[in-house]
Amino acid sequence: MESISSNLAEVKEQIASACRKAGRREDEVKLIAVSKTKSAAAVREAWDAGHREFGESYVQEFLEKIEAPELAGLPLSWHFIGHLQSNKVRQIVDKVTMIHGIDKVSTAEELSKRAEQHGLTVDYLLEVNVSREGSKYGLDPSSVLQAAESCFALPNARLRGLMTIASPDPSEARREFSELRQTLEKLRQNAPEPSLLTELSMGMSGDFEEAILEGATMIRIGTAIFGWR
Ligand SMILES: *Cc1c(COP(=O)(O)O)cnc(C)c1O
Repeated sequence: MESISSNLAEVKEQIASACRKAGRREDEVKLIAVSKTKSAAAVREAWDAGHREFGESYVQEFLEKIEAPELAGLPLSWHFIGHLQSNKVRQIVDKVTMIHGIDKVSTAEELSKRAEQHGLTVDYLLEVNVSREGSKYGLDPSSVLQAAESCFALPNARLRGLMTIASPDPSEARREFSELRQTLEKLRQNAPEPSLLTELSMGMSGDFEEAILEGATMIRIGTAIFGWR
């Protein structure tokens, strides 16, 4: 297997090339290196190669990893990208830069409440099930506007945009990414502070080029950086 640093360099090349194709600047797309199931040593390797933004999906694994000696005291940002249950919010609320996987108003309410207890305001995204596969988490696209209405009022949880996991077929995925972008545009038209709603978290190892072409501002890449899980 290639090393993590050469994988990172290659992924960044591909991001740059997709950005050129899309007529976008590279700094419009944030790369989140998804380290779930990978060791703290692997995260450290990516950190040594200059990477600072990481994604984790499982609360327990995340809490253990951030305490690992390899990562102690390092300035890095964690994005929680897994589906987040309400009863787990308090365990991570003060340890993350952004939460991507919230799909219930009640979870956003819990986030605001717990953030307030820490004197924080925490950024998050609503997860949308654009592929409409029943097995997936996420709000139905048709219910996003209504859910967001309740979310806008929360004092300590700040809605910043939308997140999705697309279908495995890249041409399907492209259509779904486009739908997520259009859903965000509608949301902005209804939002009290549209300038906060800037983020589209979409695109993984198999489909990030399509996501960039459709306006992704955050892509979440695991396998192409850290190898197979
Ligand atoms: C695992 C995971 C990723 C990364 O997937 P890869 O195909 O390995 O790049 C991205 N987003 C979410 C929500 C994930 O759970």
